Parts: sequence; C-alpha cells; structure tokens
Amino acid sequence: MLMKKITKILVGTNNSGKLKEIRGLLPKSLEIYSTADFKIKSPAENGRTFKENSLIKARYFSKKSKMICLSDDSGLEIDILEGNPGIYSARWGGKRGNFIKAMNRVFKELDKKNKNWKTKKIKARFICALTIYGPNQKTISSLGKVEGHISSSMKGENGFGYDPIFIPKGKKITFGEMKPLQKYKMDHRFKAFKKIKKFF
Ligand code: IMP
Repeated sequence: MLMKKITKILVGTNNSGKLKEIRGLLPKSLEIYSTADFKIKSPAENGRTFKENSLIKARYFSKKSKMICLSDDSGLEIDILEGNPGIYSARWGGKRGNFIKAMNRVFKELDKKNKNWKTKKIKARFICALTIYGPNQKTISSLGKVEGHISSSMKGENGFGYDPIFIPKGKKITFGEMKPLQKYKMDHRFKAFKKIKKFF
C-alpha cells in the first residue's frame, strides 16, 4: 500500500528543550508549527504510562489546531526509586519547571534510600514515547530508551531537565556536558524517532 507522507506538522510540546531537539530530528522539507503559533496551553497528563500521556497530548493539540500533531512524553526512571520520577519527571520541577529543584529532589530521595549512593552506580534510563495523531492520519506511537546511571553531582550547562545528572552507558560525562548534537544522536528521543521517521 502506498503510504502518504506527512508534509506539515504541529510539534505538541510547550517544553522549549524538547521542541529544539524534535525540530532537529524532523526533515528540513517539513512545515513545522509549534504550540506557541497557536497559543495552546498543555493538557493535564493523567495517563499511567509515557505512551498514554503522549497520546493525550497529541490528541489534545491536534483537536485544538486541526493539524496532525507529534507529541512527546518522556522522563527519567531510576531503579532504586522504583522507577521514579518516571512519568512525574516534569512535576518534580514544580509549577515553574525548576529543574535544579527536581535534581535536588532526586539526590534527596537517593539519600533516603542509601546514604552511600554516591559510591554506587545508580542505574537509570531516559524513556521517550512519541505519538502522531491527526485528521485522516493513522495514530502511530513509538518508544525509545537510553540506559545509564546517575552522576554524584550536577555537571554541565547544556541541554535541559535532568541532563546534568544523567551519564549514558559507556560514557564518562553527563548529557549536560555533551555537545547538543552528541546527545541528540544517542538519546531516547532519537531512538523513538528512528522508528517513525518513515512517515515523514
Ligand atoms: P513531560 O514529557 O512534558 O511530562 O516532561 C518530561 C520531563 O522529563 C521533562 O520536563 C524533563 O524534566 C525530563 N526529560 C525528558 N527528556 C529529557 C531529556 O532529554 N533530558 C533531560 N530531561 C528530560
């Protein structure tokens, strides 16, 4: 069956870090819109999984804009914190999205679990669910993960969110210390996007 390529899309996120990264993944020939173009606020994320939340966002932004929408729901899972902050990753930053606060909360929770956590490798992963949703468009979702561990302190000025405390497997520096392109080529969003890129 002949597949109709998507030529115009709304990137359904109000997170500037994600928007920048997703723009970089999408083909240059695509007409890209952002939620700021339509002044749409984000919906409540009451799903139980990354996939459910990415669908909630894609559906919501698509209904508001009448466009095909690509939404991301992502977060950091830490094994000894039973997978937290997970789908609550953004919420740990509070209403203002303060990620210093969110990373300090991670350190506090790790301290509570094990005072010596800094001497151990604290296994963690970033997960990203992407969903394409829109009029006359089959709904498509994909998942990408990048494994790694938590740094004993915040390092690096690049990126956003929890980047300064995440060291991907096989590397010695945090995402926050990496050049943006190096991070973009190995992270959870890139891996999820690889699975749906044929639709563009
Ligand atoms: P949400 O998908 O809008 O609920 O927000 C996901 C949250 O997870 C972000 O606000 C960040 O805190 C965190 N996050 C997701 N992806 C990344 C990433 O690539 N680097 C750092 N933090 C991320």
